[in-house]
Amino acid sequence: MRPTAVLSLDMEDWYHLDYFSGMESSDYSMLDGIDVYRNLLEKFNIPSSYFVLGELMEPLEAVLCELSKEGADLGVHGMNHARPLTMSVEEFTKEVDTAKATLEKITGKPVLGYRAPCFSMDRERLDAIRALGFKYDSSRIDFSSYPLYGSLDMEGFESPEPFVYKKEDFFEFEVGTLSFFSRQIPVSGGGYLRIFPWKLMRYLVKKYISKFNVYTLYIHPFELSRKKPPSPDGNISALTRFRFQHGLGTVEKKLENLIDFLKGEGFSFTTFASLRKDLL
Ligand SMILES: [Zn+2]
Repeated sequence: MRPTAVLSLDMEDWYHLDYFSGMESSDYSMLDGIDVYRNLLEKFNIPSSYFVLGELMEPLEAVLCELSKEGADLGVHGMNHARPLTMSVEEFTKEVDTAKATLEKITGKPVLGYRAPCFSMDRERLDAIRALGFKYDSSRIDFSSYPLYGSLDMEGFESPEPFVYKKEDFFEFEVGTLSFFSRQIPVSGGGYLRIFPWKLMRYLVKKYISKFNVYTLYIHPFELSRKKPPSPDGNISALTRFRFQHGLGTVEKKLENLIDFLKGEGFSFTTFASLRKDLL
């Protein structure tokens, strides 16, 4: 398989991050990062997948219609960023189905993709996603040292490529990680792009693409926002503050560097929906 990269934006606001859960949702928004992201993609003329929160679909209706017309791959990222593993399978199914129907009503097109908030996913919920008519999922990550993430059993799936699983016409696109000093580093994570200096990130991505042909990136609007980050009050630890704020303001340039770098390494850019079609 030729080298392929898929960029994806999880369309949520800063206050949806799990470490702010329980806080009242804020009037302050960092969704301007969506425009920053779109402008950057336009500059390089590359497509993207998007995973949208149900509760933002109506406020973002105009943007979603534009993206749909441009041929973007629009999927679902839950309703309000509650972690699927904290819900019953019935609650989860109902929520995802509602979000899927809302998005399909807005765009007039079938929704193919799903990504779980916080990668909180198990096999029972994956089977529920398949039963709802989704054609791919991208909620698997090998990051078991981090307690929020679920673990997803892929029994019965074949793996045509590392990080890609297929069962009939349904695909799982795992988020890429790199084993480094006996830890799994999510070299596909916007958070790492933000926190690591570019030279370190480039080194890790280069290591990753020397082994694997499919590179994926997930990133969030707040990471690309040009607004000042809010200073959430309450019981926010220094670590949380660091994880939220560190590197903000550097991501736009680093993402540009990353796209340039991958292009230079011979990668072509596609969406999960198109990649699925190619692999069918
Ligand atoms: Zn998310």
